[in-house]
Amino acid sequence: HPSLVWLRDDLRLNDNPALDAAAQRERPVVVLFVLDEISPDVRPLGGAAKWWLHGSLESLASDVEAAGATFVLRRGRADEIVPAVAADISAGAVFWNRRYGAAERRIDADIKKHLQAESVVCASFSASLLHDPWKLLTRAGTPYSVFTPFWRAFREHQHPRPPLPRPRFQRAAHGDVDGDVLAHWELRPSNPDWAAPLRANWSVGEQAAADRLAGFLDAELADYNIGRDVPGESQTSRLSPHLRWGEISPHTVWNAVATSPSTLAPQESVSAFMMELGWREFAWHTLFHFPQLATRNLRAQFDDFPWPPLNQRHLTAWQRGETGFAIVDAGMRELWHTGTMHNRVRMVTASFLVKNLLVDWRHGERWFWDTLVDADPASNPFNWQWIAGSGADAAPYFRVFNPELQRKKFDAENAYVGTWAPEYLSASRPVPIVDLAQSRREALAAFGSIKSA
Ligand code: FAD
Repeated sequence: HPSLVWLRDDLRLNDNPALDAAAQRERPVVVLFVLDEISPDVRPLGGAAKWWLHGSLESLASDVEAAGATFVLRRGRADEIVPAVAADISAGAVFWNRRYGAAERRIDADIKKHLQAESVVCASFSASLLHDPWKLLTRAGTPYSVFTPFWRAFREHQHPRPPLPRPRFQRAAHGDVDGDVLAHWELRPSNPDWAAPLRANWSVGEQAAADRLAGFLDAELADYNIGRDVPGESQTSRLSPHLRWGEISPHTVWNAVATSPSTLAPQESVSAFMMELGWREFAWHTLFHFPQLATRNLRAQFDDFPWPPLNQRHLTAWQRGETGFAIVDAGMRELWHTGTMHNRVRMVTASFLVKNLLVDWRHGERWFWDTLVDADPASNPFNWQWIAGSGADAAPYFRVFNPELQRKKFDAENAYVGTWAPEYLSASRPVPIVDLAQSRREALAAFGSIKSA
């Protein structure tokens, strides 16, 4: 009886506990991916994420076959397909790595129950997070709502385990991955093909992720703590979409950084980078404990926030990078063209939408969801709520990023604005769509109303 491994957000061979368990069972292995866009409450992928997924599956398919397993692609409801494929191949065991969203956990639990009732061995593993959310709780047994104590507990918890080796499998019957299946899913845009700049900016897949990590350790980690806030320099790792799809595991990244020689990377840079991985963990733990992160304010007091009726003209100007503020427009255009945006500019553009245009953070979150290649169901809403002031350990609402000052401070040489919004360097600069000081006052007054309530 072969083993079935169901891959989801873990599109890699290295350090993959589910694949490792299958290899150890020493039976032929079938690897399954299900494109599930119809199960209730599972959030459909955004456009940029779909584009990434196509490339990642293409690359995974050839790696899985080369390792001696069979790769199978299916589309539909996971809770129907996984048991059906398991029955088809007479699987003796089914393995997967855990997911942390509520709907996904429900689906996985139902499938596990079903398989176990059929006497199929079924086991799940921890792979996408350094520590499972239920392992890090306050002394009272509650989730952390503030990052600093979370991070302290994280550092005092056991060291993240070292990565597992790349598995080799016994060959199974041939699968159905002939390229056609994937092409029919139409994950990539065709008419119009907006993905050309994405192709130019990214290499997708497990090998590309490993190369990017090596490049980061070599070139950027050393000055990470100084350069990471400067959008005109590429001093960050650009690993986020690879981590999002699990083309590389956080354990691999963590251990590589932790063991990099101090002559190459000073401790301040190593610690600053690890803390960013810590924010990723904190976002996912928050999603686990608060499943409606993308739609509900974490702090209920914000439910009474007096959002004005949506100003569609303002929202569209923000989406297109036509707000009249250089760094905001540069950021929104970088996002549209490349599927990513520097973290500093994500904060500035998000603050501008929520606090200068007074647009509900959920509109911004949805736009990022559709346009970011790294959009994930935890980090995206978590960071939007952090900016809005409604989230865990959120920036206080009265902290409004001033886009002009942010530009002066972090893009003094115009390296970033010059690339993405060069018209701001000329005499005929675009006209702002709002008055910064007045819109800030209005936002603070709106906040004052929920604070006093
Ligand atoms: P690096 O600086 O090299 O950081 C290393 C890794 O740490 C990243 O790859 C990422 O996995 C993680 N990380 C860093 N900062 C954060 C953070 N604030 N929250 C969670 N993880 C973090 N990140 C996403 O991965 N997906 C999202 O959907 C997402 N949406 C965001 C929305 C807003 C409004 C904001 C302000 C931030 C968002 N971020 C998101 C966080 C951050 O901007 C990106 O992770 C980062 O810019 C990715 O670039 P990098 O890989 O070069 O990061």
